[in-house]
Amino acid sequence: MEKRLAYIFVILGVFGQPLAVAAQKPPLLPENQVSALAQELSGETAKRNLEGIARNHRQRGSRGFHAAAELVAERARTYGLSGVEILQFPADGEAFYGTQRSRQSWDADFAELWVMRKGGDAWTPFVLIASYDAMPITLAEDSESADVAADLIDVGAGTAEVDYSGKEVRGKIVLTSAQPGAVQNLAVDKFGAAGIISYAMNQRTAWWGEDENMIRWGHLQSFPKTKTFAFMVSLKTARSLRERLAHGEQIHLHAVVRAGQHPGSYEVVTAIIPGTDPKLKNQEIAFSCHLDHQRPGANDNASGCATILEVARTLQKLISEGKLSRPARTIRFIWPPEIEGTTTLLNAKPEFAQRIKAVVHMDMVGGGPETKAIFHVTRGPLSLPSFVHDVAEAFADFTNEQTEKFANTGTADYPLIASEGGKEPLRAEFAPFSMGSDHDVYQEGSFCIPAIYFNDWPDRYIHTNLDTAANIDPTKLKRAAFIGAASGYFLANVRAGDAGIIIEQSVASAIRRHAAGRTSTRPGVSSALRLTEDVCTGDPSLRRRLIGFHAQPATQRATGCVRLRLF
Ligand SMILES: [Zn+2]
Repeated sequence: MEKRLAYIFVILGVFGQPLAVAAQKPPLLPENQVSALAQELSGETAKRNLEGIARNHRQRGSRGFHAAAELVAERARTYGLSGVEILQFPADGEAFYGTQRSRQSWDADFAELWVMRKGGDAWTPFVLIASYDAMPITLAEDSESADVAADLIDVGAGTAEVDYSGKEVRGKIVLTSAQPGAVQNLAVDKFGAAGIISYAMNQRTAWWGEDENMIRWGHLQSFPKTKTFAFMVSLKTARSLRERLAHGEQIHLHAVVRAGQHPGSYEVVTAIIPGTDPKLKNQEIAFSCHLDHQRPGANDNASGCATILEVARTLQKLISEGKLSRPARTIRFIWPPEIEGTTTLLNAKPEFAQRIKAVVHMDMVGGGPETKAIFHVTRGPLSLPSFVHDVAEAFADFTNEQTEKFANTGTADYPLIASEGGKEPLRAEFAPFSMGSDHDVYQEGSFCIPAIYFNDWPDRYIHTNLDTAANIDPTKLKRAAFIGAASGYFLANVRAGDAGIIIEQSVASAIRRHAAGRTSTRPGVSSALRLTEDVCTGDPSLRRRLIGFHAQPATQRATGCVRLRLF
């Protein structure tokens, strides 16, 4: 396609067409290509790379992030990818990327928190309740150096002034149920606390607060008024400390922290498989994830990083073996720090934003049964209608069907299982747009790049010490890789001649969504109507007919509409 934008506007006679018939053969790609992907993609290889990434405490701009970035870059080079590099952008608290002020890098060398015991006149170390060396998650991000011996005081949540009334906080270490950053202004700036201990619980899901051994990733403010430090402890540790304080016991602590913010860099690993079409090779289909987060951060998000790396390995290998042809468009892989790294990249290197035509973004794609995760294939915002979501849904639907058939009967053409993984059906959910990861940045009005978003939710271990590799299912990694690889490879080669098969998928997806809206809630119906207005702006008569179409009972639907925007 020479034109940058091409619109194909079609009215289809939907009624009576076999759109809802379950696919038996793979959609959109020739079967030999789908089969090659299914055979080559390895859940075990993805999990081995995940284990490597998850050993690093990957805070933005830190040595741990850099180690993970080097690991990914080394793998990408070994796999034979082109243009492998670690891009660096100043993160000094001064540089701006778009409207985003960079945050300084942060590193820690040492941190320990001891409960002290009095022997005679002197306090001596008694119980070590937090060690950065053993568990880096126990030191809140953006903690600064300190060497403080002080008593502990319980401030409850510590987020309102009333929590401090009648308490002498100055010079003491406060114990809070809230995140350190949420109490910092009151506890440290206003009332003069020497530091913070937080037992903030895991993110709110049905499993919130259930596991008393869980330790949550903690944060202080990135641009604080007063420098301080904070340790994160489990509910079990906090309960014991609170009970002792409630009985009037003095708890004397010794905190030693050698850590701090410093000017550094956002690092973004990238690699490509070059496109070959003279007119299309400057366009790119990007695979995205986020490489930062606390150790272990296995599902969030070593899983997405290792899975797009496995997509990279597989595509490169199949292309070099001649099992897949070289793509028309360039396929790019990007491993940034979450959201701020992508914002930095697209602002600092606008050529990336110009070249990237679609994104396959993976953030939490490996959660096994322990995590309670449900896998989602998430659409874009209604303001940015695109067929790319229908492409992903087509491959996810095929994967659901094949893996269910295998689970039920022990036989399927595409079981898509890893020998070290589970055999349960995938049951991917097709979800409307939701925010919360780098796909927001691509699809936001500054860039308007459609992004397919694969994500697990809920996950009872997210952002805690228990988000471990042990909970990751290699079968699920393989299936996420398969849906992503097939979608991305199709998009890298899509041309105007593919309009017919895409429209079939788009109409099938639309009918599924609208039927779901009709059978569930009124908001579902109204969002379907909004979608109709979005896709048909500019033609009032068509819009009227479409609204009529959606307002009819399903059995009376006779026409459908898809506006297909290719790149
Ligand atoms: Zn994430």
